[in-house]
Amino acid sequence: LKAGNSGEKLTPMMQQYVEIKANYKDYILFYRLGDFYEMFNEDAMVASKELELTLTSRAGTPMCGVPHHSAEGYIKKLIDKGFKVAICEQTTDPALSKGLVERDIVRLVSAGTVIEASMLEDGSNNYISCIYVGENGTGMVFADISTGEVHAVEKANSKKTDEDIIAQFSQYTPVELLFNAEFLNRKQAYTFIRNRYGKCSAEQLSDEDFSIDDVSEITAQFGGTADEIGLAGKDNALRALCALLRYLYKAQRSGAKRFVKLNVHSSGEFMQLGLATRRNLELTSTMRSGEKKGSLLWVLDKTDTSMGRRKLRQCIEQPLTDTAAIIRRHDAVEALINNSAALYDIKTDLAKVYDLERLMTRIIYKAANAKDVKALGATCRILPQLKSDLSQISTQLTRSLDKKISPLDDIADLVERAIADEPPALMKDGGYIKNGFNEELDRLRNITGGGKDLLAQIEQQEKEATGIKNLRVGYNRVFGYYIEVSKGNVSMVPDRYVRKQTLTNGERYITDELKKIENEILGANDKILALEAAIFAEVREFIARRLDLIQQTAESVAALDVLCSYAVVSIENNYCRPMMANDSVIEIKDGRHPVVEKMVNEILFTPNDVYLDVKSNRLMIITGPNMSGKSTFMRQVAVIVLMAQIGCFVPASYARLGVVDRIFTRVGASDDLSAGQSTFMVEMTEVATILNEATKNSLVILDEIGRGTSTYDGVSIAKAVAEYISSKAIGCKTLFATHYHELISLENELDGVRNYSVKVKRSGEDIKFLHKIVEGGTDDSYGIEVARLAGLPKKVTDRAKQLLAELEKAPKIQRELELRAEEESESQIDFEATGRQNVIAEIKNLDLDDMTPREAYAKLEELKAML
Ligand code: ADP
Repeated sequence: LKAGNSGEKLTPMMQQYVEIKANYKDYILFYRLGDFYEMFNEDAMVASKELELTLTSRAGTPMCGVPHHSAEGYIKKLIDKGFKVAICEQTTDPALSKGLVERDIVRLVSAGTVIEASMLEDGSNNYISCIYVGENGTGMVFADISTGEVHAVEKANSKKTDEDIIAQFSQYTPVELLFNAEFLNRKQAYTFIRNRYGKCSAEQLSDEDFSIDDVSEITAQFGGTADEIGLAGKDNALRALCALLRYLYKAQRSGAKRFVKLNVHSSGEFMQLGLATRRNLELTSTMRSGEKKGSLLWVLDKTDTSMGRRKLRQCIEQPLTDTAAIIRRHDAVEALINNSAALYDIKTDLAKVYDLERLMTRIIYKAANAKDVKALGATCRILPQLKSDLSQISTQLTRSLDKKISPLDDIADLVERAIADEPPALMKDGGYIKNGFNEELDRLRNITGGGKDLLAQIEQQEKEATGIKNLRVGYNRVFGYYIEVSKGNVSMVPDRYVRKQTLTNGERYITDELKKIENEILGANDKILALEAAIFAEVREFIARRLDLIQQTAESVAALDVLCSYAVVSIENNYCRPMMANDSVIEIKDGRHPVVEKMVNEILFTPNDVYLDVKSNRLMIITGPNMSGKSTFMRQVAVIVLMAQIGCFVPASYARLGVVDRIFTRVGASDDLSAGQSTFMVEMTEVATILNEATKNSLVILDEIGRGTSTYDGVSIAKAVAEYISSKAIGCKTLFATHYHELISLENELDGVRNYSVKVKRSGEDIKFLHKIVEGGTDDSYGIEVARLAGLPKKVTDRAKQLLAELEKAPKIQRELELRAEEESESQIDFEATGRQNVIAEIKNLDLDDMTPREAYAKLEELKAML
């Protein structure tokens, strides 16, 4: 960083700036100057542009600034744009310091280290993540300092490491990423994360940052040694944890310890869902708009607290795979439904609960204001009632939640006694500590507030003592408090009066007593502010010492909120309790899609049955025209399975379900993730993942595969994939919607395959979709009818019909060959298409049965390079 004009000597203040800035090159430095944060040089140029501030210059140095009291909004804007901000404060009082005020960095703010309510989204976590790719394993840690949650995962390195990393990221969607150098060699994961996070700050840390030399210090806050907190043999996760916590301590100079519990996860604990599946099933946001409205989360969210809202999102992102744990949730939901009086009492209590987790973060970081503390106290006040209402529900899960909710009366009492009922929003003028809490504070307030009374009292007392009837006590800014006596009465003034000022028609005096009161009144204000701050700090400390209990309470309240939410949606939407089976089965009667049924009128939604097992009903081939409801049906099966595994009831009249380990979906055209890849390539990559990773207990949804290529290729690939999936090699439950009527014959050729189609009613020229899935395939595609529905002119559809009739006369093979010839003649001038043809030819020649997943991956890379 250069000084403004080269060669010019810097002022001492700028010298100080340059020295501090040198250590924070990657940050925009907010440099406190009086009531402003100033930015200089390059920072000023960037910030003035991004924040639309006026850029000025002092002695050739570009600068711009923001008022300190409104800095939060500006910081948020910069963070949202992917910048990091370093806050530099004056650390000595300018009024007291001689010469240059001392300054120091007090806080580093980045997307993953914000704690201000205005910078956080209420219903979502704000994870910062750290990844350490080691020699034989990879550790990943995800922490949310705004709620105090930390999750750690360790995976052995394998050919799937990139996918493991991507899967974890898709689950937690962190806003900031820290990583070690070796992570750069994980090209697939690295590219994925960079593409996904774009501008989001990703920072490489040094090997030293990942050291585990002083590890006991770090693990101690979680209550033990690395082994004791669940990281035995998980050194890579431990390294990631150490690096992350060091980073967070650096960001918050106060070194606050926010975390109390480490959640170590093992593989298989949750249903695995890839990013594509999360999106396709529209779990927490819709594909089209990315909004919550229209997603599963939107339907299920009847929570009353922010904590519950975040927890519900987590539950949807992490369906369980442990049958017993799933049943415990179902038991609780059922009990809540059966005692709806208790359910609505609990919800009334929950509605009064504030965000304990985020309030605690601000308490721990000493950033809480009086309103925060008041809200926390008020929440603690509700807890005994909540516990009493909850005690009416006696299931294993609700009882254990009840046990973990502490009544926290002591906090409620203290806050009620100490903090004003309606504390001011700003702390700087005081007035937030209640009268009657502290004697000294009451006395000081009496002096300032009751100062007038005191003076009137003195006036009266002096009148009586001296006999001067018109004696008056007054105040003036230059001389302070005085006793004024008119000329005629000056002779009656006693000796203890000291003359201060002479007026034309009288004299003003001061007495020792008045002097003392004057000092007290003038000093009292400062003392009041200091005393209020000290009392407040004590209250805050008192609460901070209960972090463990409050955190556990918060977690349990959140879980309870989610269960109540499940119960309410289940009542309102008429869901049924799914039976969890020990065998691998999916049996649903009158199943509905929870979101689509809300979009179309509920009465109009056609329920559908499904039966899948691992024996003779493994693979459903579903044929039917566009828009007939195939994809809704398939997604609904997946969503119902998922809903059951998050512990919710399901939209059906009956459901018997075995636990599914993974749901795979291959649906429609892919999105931005595929940047730079052809649709067909993305499709094939996704299919490859499914073929390589699905197990007998997985659920696979394939919506139209092989469409991105010529018909022959498409049919062949679709058929080969169906064969492979239904074979013993995988044998998972699969729903396969297809346009290729050629696949119908598979029912007779392969074990476990069943044909289904969507019922269509034809009357004359018109068709009507009944959305009913029935047994048996169909080779009617109704393409022209659908085109007519879409509003194509009658002339065109009539002509199309005519052409279709002609084509149908020609032998089928002939027709395909003609199509093929057309495509090939096109590809002669289209190099890209030629490349694609080559790739297709290659794929066609592949013998998937004979390839290991690694070989398939290598092949895929090779194919990709050909495009
Ligand atoms: P396809 O996959 O066959 O092209 P979709 O599943 O996308 O068809 O369904 C098209 C539309 O039909 C949906 O947007 C929805 O409005 C309606 N739909 C689908 N299934 C049903 C159903 N079971 N009951 C009522 N309407 C349905």
